Amino acid sequence: MTQWSSLEEFVERHRRLFVLTGAGCSTSSGIPDYRDADGQWKRRQPVTYQAFMGEEATRRRYWARSLLGWRRIRSARPNDAHRALARLEATGGIELLLTQNVDRLHQAAGSARVVDLHGRIDRVRCMGCEHRAGRDEFQDELGRLNAGWLGLDAADAPDGDADLDSADFSSFAVPSCRRCGGMLKPDVVFFGENVPRDRVDAAQRHLMQADAVLIVGSSLMVYSGYRFVQWAASAGKPAAAVNLGRTRADGHIALKVEQACEEALAFLL
Ligand SMILES: [Zn+2]
Repeated sequence: MTQWSSLEEFVERHRRLFVLTGAGCSTSSGIPDYRDADGQWKRRQPVTYQAFMGEEATRRRYWARSLLGWRRIRSARPNDAHRALARLEATGGIELLLTQNVDRLHQAAGSARVVDLHGRIDRVRCMGCEHRAGRDEFQDELGRLNAGWLGLDAADAPDGDADLDSADFSSFAVPSCRRCGGMLKPDVVFFGENVPRDRVDAAQRHLMQADAVLIVGSSLMVYSGYRFVQWAASAGKPAAAVNLGRTRADGHIALKVEQACEEALAFLL
């Protein structure tokens, strides 16, 4: 079944890789993964687009948790997996890096040929006028309006999210767009929300230019990422994967490396 003896050989043979990355790439940077080795949820499923857009209470709870959680994401730094892929790009080996992560750590490591499939957590988007603002700027405003919440630290408790869930969010103030008064949302694709069509199309065009697919740190349980592997398989492009545990695409994968991403990609550094 396996046509390549090692990942190194796979990467050497295919010089225009379409790289698809997921949460496993960022876990060593301290950003938690949502799923276990069987692809099942480790914790409560994240907020859906429908709940966020439809319920004020959900938005208060989301932003209260985000007020505390943003500090950890903001201080995260790239790890050797990000650096290895940036190095591969620098040597001309990457057609496109499509990431399902919203943390921008690939760009921080120096990758430029990146599409953020699910958006970016460092920006806030107005659902009324489409204005984008930096998350840091928004954080300052959230903090000013909710000074009493800043002393809380969800990360200090072993089950911080649950602790915070029992809090009363009715007093939490959520700022609106300064330009139009519209509702603000993180500039990321929520569960239940569609990835913008032009973003999918652009990535798909690169996929067709690539000669193979390399999946790094993703179980591909989310269809928006998985479909790229389906398209690659239909086009006869081989795929290799680095992932701890099963992936939804195991049936399409010619080479699977069950190692931490930074270990499996160490040969690139
Ligand atoms: Zn607006």
